[in-house]
Amino acid sequence: MEIRNYHLATSLEDARSILEADPKNVVFGGGTWLRQGKHVVETMIDLGGLGLDRIEAGNESILIGSMTTLRTIEKNDAIKGLAGGILFEAVSRIMGVNFRNLATIGGSVMGKYAFSDVLTPLLALDATLVFHNRPDVSLKDFLKEKKKANDLLTGIRIPRTEGKGFFKKVSQTAVDFSILNVAIHKADTVRIVIGARPGVCALAEKAMARLDKGKKHERTPVRGPQKSPWANSLGDNHQASKAYRQALGGIRQTRTQGGLFR
Ligand SMILES: Cc1cc2nc3c(=O)[nH]c(=O)nc-3n(C[C@H](O)[C@H](O)[C@H](O)COP(=O)(O)OP(=O)(O)OC[C@H]3O[C@@H](n4cnc5c(N)ncnc54)[C@H](O)[C@@H]3O)c2cc1C
Repeated sequence: MEIRNYHLATSLEDARSILEADPKNVVFGGGTWLRQGKHVVETMIDLGGLGLDRIEAGNESILIGSMTTLRTIEKNDAIKGLAGGILFEAVSRIMGVNFRNLATIGGSVMGKYAFSDVLTPLLALDATLVFHNRPDVSLKDFLKEKKKANDLLTGIRIPRTEGKGFFKKVSQTAVDFSILNVAIHKADTVRIVIGARPGVCALAEKAMARLDKGKKHERTPVRGPQKSPWANSLGDNHQASKAYRQALGGIRQTRTQGGLFR
């Protein structure tokens, strides 16, 4: 990657005007993903001086500034205590500490990475994205948007609901990309999110509806592909085949295999 100019934004409005001035101008988080490419960046816009690297824990919600590093999130007590610590669990398994000291939550969300371990728990927690240059939008709707816009993310708001949570990632090594991941948040209703399908994470809406309709189904195992409401959302990529993902998910079970989503 070639960076021609560097600009430390003096305000969000300053950042917006530079971002919109040239399609080759780019907002940087920690630069961990951007630096992998061979593209030319005309002006790198650094939001580092705007105080967006904080976590504000209120009674109703937790607001994570977009420049907050994964490491700061992992060490935060409010995040650790939120829904069984599912965001903490997910974030603290990404690469090593040095890496997490650089990578930001903003970069993790705006990249919409299909393999993401961050998006999966955030969607289970029903997070809302807060922007400078457009109205707030739910993460669920944001993930469905196709067009790449000049969005300037300032934070992620997570409702502070009571409840239990669960996060599980399956990867070839501890620091590898997820082959499949799942986050579940159970409060008044249940939210189940499957990530690295290999498509970007999505709510398992039929499974959620099934659980919400009759609580008696909660412990009912899924016995075959035809009975799983989300089996068809899994697919192949270089990390794993669809069949392997189905086996991991407990859709194709043998006597000796366990499954993530039985
Ligand atoms: C080797 C490697 C292994 C990885 N393994 C994992 C893994 O196991 N699990 C996982 O979940 N992730 C993994 N990642 C992804 C990693 O978490 C991302 O690199 C990181 O989230 C990007 O964060 P960043 O702050 O460095 O973003 P950057 O690289 O700075 O930016 C990424 C994108 O977000 C945009 N952006 C950043 N901030 C903003 C903002 N405020 N507003 C608008 N747009 C913005 C940038 O313009 C860019 O398009 C891995 C990455 C690498 C390089």
